[in-house]
Amino acid sequence: MIQTTSPADLRAWVAERHGTGQRVGLVPTMGALHEGHLVLVDEARRRNLAVVMSIFVNPLQFGPHEDFAHYPRDLDRDHALAAARGVEALFVPSPATMYPPGVDTRVVPGAAASRWEGEFRPGHFTGVLTVVAKLFHLVLPDVAVFGQKDFQQAVLVRQMVRDLDFPLELVVVPTVREADGLALSSRNAYLSPEERVRALALSRGLQSAHEAWRGGERGGAAIERRVWMELERDPGITVEYVAVVDPERLEPLDRVGSDTTVAVAARVGTTRLIDNIVLSVGVR
Ligand code: AMP
Repeated sequence: MIQTTSPADLRAWVAERHGTGQRVGLVPTMGALHEGHLVLVDEARRRNLAVVMSIFVNPLQFGPHEDFAHYPRDLDRDHALAAARGVEALFVPSPATMYPPGVDTRVVPGAAASRWEGEFRPGHFTGVLTVVAKLFHLVLPDVAVFGQKDFQQAVLVRQMVRDLDFPLELVVVPTVREADGLALSSRNAYLSPEERVRALALSRGLQSAHEAWRGGERGGAAIERRVWMELERDPGITVEYVAVVDPERLEPLDRVGSDTTVAVAARVGTTRLIDNIVLSVGVR
């Protein structure tokens, strides 16, 4: 595996691969790798793509009081994990490379960015789409692989790819969970052992919603209430939102249809966690 901080070196590597007819897959991450990131690599390899992984903690997508400075960073460990999983090129640009003085253009997301995450993290998706657009242009991947864990992000990136005519295919991979249901996240490292137990209320709430749906419940408000009931039991959890939405416009639904997504954001202590589940025949 090559590792580079240089866009020019990365471009040369990708051009060489493209020159031999090899298709290239990009897995964008912020590092602190876990199995949820590595299954994205597996998916790219399953599609016979030469895998580029980017690791970049993007300052533009963090609010002024968020955890940018404290976000977990361990490049040596990430390098070893990525190489062992079959990543062929690791792109680790610096903030100065991505945003040299004078860079002032932003990608403005559509209306679906103002809801849910966007309401609690103003400007977040502008930061996300701007860095993703830059990575797409720097790497020129044939396929980009994202996780369902960041459901709203995946929806907005898909819209950007469509609306701004990026010539690539977007693939979204189901959420990887611990055996007890907790969705893997780099931010789980912030949780104390007690908070780690409390955090299970998110996936439990989503499971409860899914069970209600399997049992025939089709009311959006009733499904939403199932999630709230699990979360409200614990005074150590502060719910930010529970969303029962269509997976395109992210608008709340009175009646639940196929592929309705139930998403939740909550603080467990000071740690902000998100999770979601798709109401479909197989649990996703
Ligand atoms: P991050 O490093 O948190 O920006 O995540 C990088 C990519 O990994 C995003 O596309 C995430 O949606 C995806 N991802 C993070 N956690 C998981 C998970 N538990 N399961 C599947 N994908 C994930």
